[in-house]
Amino acid sequence: MDIACPECGETEALSGSRRKEAITLSCETCGHEWVRDLSPSCRRCGGSDMQAVPLAILEKGRGTQLSVVGTRTIHLCSQCDAETLRHYHDNRPNPLLPDDIPTAGL
Ligand SMILES: [Zn+2]
Ligand SMILES: [Zn+2]
Repeated sequence: MDIACPECGETEALSGSRRKEAITLSCETCGHEWVRDLSPSCRRCGGSDMQAVPLAILEKGRGTQLSVVGTRTIHLCSQCDAETLRHYHDNRPNPLLPDDIPTAGL
């Protein structure tokens, strides 16, 4: 989670109060206040029909072998990422692999 003040770029001296779907953040350096929306929405179509899926975190072991060392949650759009979501549901409960996601980079 990298949160930075949109005014001055401060990343440490921030305080936030969390409400249901949003966090109100204030910067102690410049006094700027802003709201951070917590409900994920698609960056491409703007839709809010998002699904949380686990994405594997891979680490190179010996040779070329990649091993799964954990997962992190990403949000995929039911519209734009339909293909990837189908792939995920077919392989459950395995997490998605980064290679499965053509649009990765979240
Ligand atoms: Zn600031
Ligand atoms: Zn979308």
